[in-house]
Parts: sequence; structure tokens; C-alpha cells
Amino acid sequence: MTDTTPGNPPPDAAERRAAKPLICYQVDQLPPSNLALYRQARQGMRKLAEITVAPREGGTFEVPAGSFFRIVSVEGSQVGDLNLWYAHDLRERFFSGKTRQLHATHVSTGDRLWSSLPGLRPMATITHDTLDWYGWDEDGAGVHDVIGTRCDPYTNYMLNGVDYHHCCHSNLTRALAAAADIPLTEAELHVHDVMNVFMCTGFTGDTHQYFMKASPVRPGDYIEFFAEIDLLGALSTCPGGDCGSSHSDDSTPCYPLQVEIYQPGAGALQGWSSPLRSGYSGTHGI
Ligand SMILES: [Zn+2]
Repeated sequence: MTDTTPGNPPPDAAERRAAKPLICYQVDQLPPSNLALYRQARQGMRKLAEITVAPREGGTFEVPAGSFFRIVSVEGSQVGDLNLWYAHDLRERFFSGKTRQLHATHVSTGDRLWSSLPGLRPMATITHDTLDWYGWDEDGAGVHDVIGTRCDPYTNYMLNGVDYHHCCHSNLTRALAAAADIPLTEAELHVHDVMNVFMCTGFTGDTHQYFMKASPVRPGDYIEFFAEIDLLGALSTCPGGDCGSSHSDDSTPCYPLQVEIYQPGAGALQGWSSPLRSGYSGTHGI
């Protein structure tokens, strides 16, 4: 816990605290979104494939640029931990911190998932979210956070002193190792901070600690993305289930999640092109 013993405030403490908040990034200067075009394109799309991720497991899927994918709740209230990589270079991966700074702590329709430096381009745009009605509740919580990292066996061992092998970190590691045909030790280094799909989280008002509460997701709910670049995705069905009570153990009811890949109709993406990596020279002043 943070040591909350107060120090002596300086005489101008009130004045210092009164500085006005300023939104860090001029997000209205981001490359324009193609959401209107995607909304049109999703009307005539057809399903190409679907995979089911078993409870407390991980699964991978590929989505070609210009296609859509959905993560669907199918049997019960379940949270999913999502990783994304550029399909042709695993070093370019989802950058949850920058996505949070550019959009918000929780993401929904119209927000984009950005890639790591030096790529920094949109990997996917959220095109539909059946939980967009949730907004912010009385606890200050929202759905689909890009704050939390992923449950992992190291933190669990530190706190509980036992090995647990079905944390999202391990589920994602096993799934990536199998899909990319690389050793577990190599795959683990590519696993990164997730988008917590369907997870309901926030920060407490008094201590600003990260909290979770039971997800409002129900079977039939889904979140849909447009793949801006060729993607390799991995999804873990969190051992916390709806994350309303615990995580990192086998005691909570868990359910599968489904990933569906859709192709838009021919000619539906007229004028769209896959975004390029950042135009920064990369010389860092040298
Ligand atoms: Zn988890």
C-alpha cells in the first residue's frame, strides 16, 4: 500500500493543485477515421471462419487487412484477454499504453488499437460494440479496458506462492508458441499488455487502485474490429470468468469465447488503403 502519511504541504500548495488539466494529445489531429466506410462495408460481409477458445485456454487467429473480426460471448459471462501482432513481424504489436493515451482507459466503437514503436499505426478499428450502452457506471467503471496487463503466473506466485498454469499470460504464450512454431521461452517475450475484452474495471475514488467487477457481457454480445493491417491475434479466456470474484485459479465458472472472421463484399472498401508504419525518420537526432 502507498504510505499515505502526509508530508508538509508548501505554502502555495493550493495554487499548485489548481493548475488546469490539459488533454495530453490533440486527438482531433489523428489520421481521420474511416468509420463511415467500415459501417457501410460491414453490411454485406460474410463469415469466413470461426474458432472457439475453450475455457481457461488460449487460441490464435489470422485476419487479413481489410477484413473484420468479432469476439463473441457464447455460453456465459466471460472476459477475454486480447493480443495482436502484425502478422509478418511479431515485433510490431498492440501498444495498450499509447492506445490509452490517445483514446481513453476503456475503448469502444470508433476507437483504434495502435501498434508499438516504431510502427505506431492503427492495427484495428472497433466497428461495433453491443456493450456500448454501458458507458461509465456509478463506481466509475467501464468495459473493455486498456489499463490492466493480464493475469500472470509470476504475480500469482509472488502473492500466493503456488504455480498456476492457466493465467492469461500462459494461455497466450502456449497459443502463440503453437501458432508460430516457436519455443515457449521465445513466444513468452512476444506476449504483451492486452485489451481486456468485456472486462469491467476502474479505479477506486479514494485510493485510485485498479478494481474489477462482474462483467455485464451476456451470450450474444460481441465486439467487432476492422483489421487495418494483416493481423495475428491471440485470445485467452481468463480463468477469472466474468472477473467478478477472483482470477488465477480454477474456482470460478469459465466459458468459451468465439472469434469470427468476416470478409466485406467486393468493392466495399473503395478508397481505403492499409496504413503505413510511422513516417518518423528513426534517426533520434544522430
Ligand atoms: Zn486473465
